[in-house]
Amino acid sequence: MPKDVLIISDEAYFEYATTAEYPDTFALLDQFPNLIIMRTFSKIYGLAGLRIGYAIIPDALKEPLNIVRLPFNTSSVAQSAATAALADQAFIEKCVTANTEGLKQWYDFLDARGLAYYKSDANFIFFDTERDATDLFNQLLQKGFIVRAGLKPNWLRITIGSNKENQDCIQTLASILDNK
Ligand SMILES: *Cc1c(COP(=O)(O)O)cnc(C)c1O
Repeated sequence: MPKDVLIISDEAYFEYATTAEYPDTFALLDQFPNLIIMRTFSKIYGLAGLRIGYAIIPDALKEPLNIVRLPFNTSSVAQSAATAALADQAFIEKCVTANTEGLKQWYDFLDARGLAYYKSDANFIFFDTERDATDLFNQLLQKGFIVRAGLKPNWLRITIGSNKENQDCIQTLASILDNK
């Protein structure tokens, strides 16, 4: 990539990642002056409503970015909340553990059914239902589960919840699949 082209690494789900191969882009900053890393407080930190995130940028980009960024693009309340959230890493560890266990619930279910899926380093699972995913979406919606269809034919994306929520969603999906 030419040096005058920016590479932006969008790491919204960075904190959820547990695999050893997850790239350490931070270590690349010294090597590549055209690299920007973006992270957010909207996901694992649960502060989406406060609209707060951050970017790690090369020194040379500080000034140009400061010129083009919108004025008052964050608030003191959001910054205080983000600072407090950063200090509570025990909460983050709890969320990562719960998420990893939740993914395992889905892997077990999908393995047992022989349904293909992508191993996830985020707080969602993306898998092949081998059926019309839009129909499944509607049936799950009627049971109170809002999932995501339309990303790939027959595939659903489902966000990891609590142990009980995952179990309920898996059971509901299983009963819909068995009805066909
Ligand atoms: C959530 C998310 C973001 C960041 O969202 P903000 O709420 O605007 O901070 C960025 N990229 C991806 C892929 C996301 O899912």
